[in-house]
Amino acid sequence: MSTNAQSPNTKPDQPWLAYKRAMVIVAHPDDAEFGCSGTLAKMARNGMQIAYVLCTSGDKGSGDPTMTSERLAKIREQEQRNAARVVGTEDVTFLRFGDGELETSREVIGKIVHEIRRFKPDIVICQDPYMRRRHNHRDHRHAGQATFDAVYPYARDHMHFPDQIKKEGLQTHKVAEVYSIMSEEPDVVIDISDVIDVKVEALKQHASQIGDPKGLEERIKNRPNELAQQHGLKHAEGFRRHTFNVGGPQPVAPLVRPVEAEEPAREA
Ligand SMILES: [Zn+2]
Repeated sequence: MSTNAQSPNTKPDQPWLAYKRAMVIVAHPDDAEFGCSGTLAKMARNGMQIAYVLCTSGDKGSGDPTMTSERLAKIREQEQRNAARVVGTEDVTFLRFGDGELETSREVIGKIVHEIRRFKPDIVICQDPYMRRRHNHRDHRHAGQATFDAVYPYARDHMHFPDQIKKEGLQTHKVAEVYSIMSEEPDVVIDISDVIDVKVEALKQHASQIGDPKGLEERIKNRPNELAQQHGLKHAEGFRRHTFNVGGPQPVAPLVRPVEAEEPAREA
């Protein structure tokens, strides 16, 4: 593939430089912080606008028998707002589907389409719905699938969810790229060593989910990270990049050579 030196999107460690807005759409509070808060923080520091969409408010995520779903949802929404502020945005939308009850229904897709048409992101970051080797939480799979479908074709085409256009004054929107987190085959690896403290601070905001914040900090900062090591980095976040910008300027892909699967050991 030929490279276009003029494109600002060819910088391997900042592949978003041509873009202005990124929206992260995930199942639960804390998913974005674990998966991509370092990258989001770097985007925010590059002047990009960031928006969060939470499909559920994580209202089942407690082992405390005295906790209720209503109370937990309020706590976790506030924790998520605090974490987003650490990353660099106040734009946080809660769709408030039940934790563990997320479907890829027309209703879920329509609400995600609404947020995409409102914010007009160039980049959408979501959970990879296509994991095969490891089992993934049902809400993660469904949040990812509903988001891919919302990006294309639903947000793009005016005859889908027409009331958003006719009654609410929204416009159709084309997302240029989707980056999926939790991907088993990341082809974009971002060095987040310079913002690891931001990631830790953002994660610590999810106090209801983190029993031992010091231990978490120690783990995130000092435990060897396989993906980072494979790419000669201290800290990294990996994404699978999907481009929808057909006909427009294409990014140089892959930005980081995909990690080769290790050959299984053979008997001599
Ligand atoms: Zn989750």
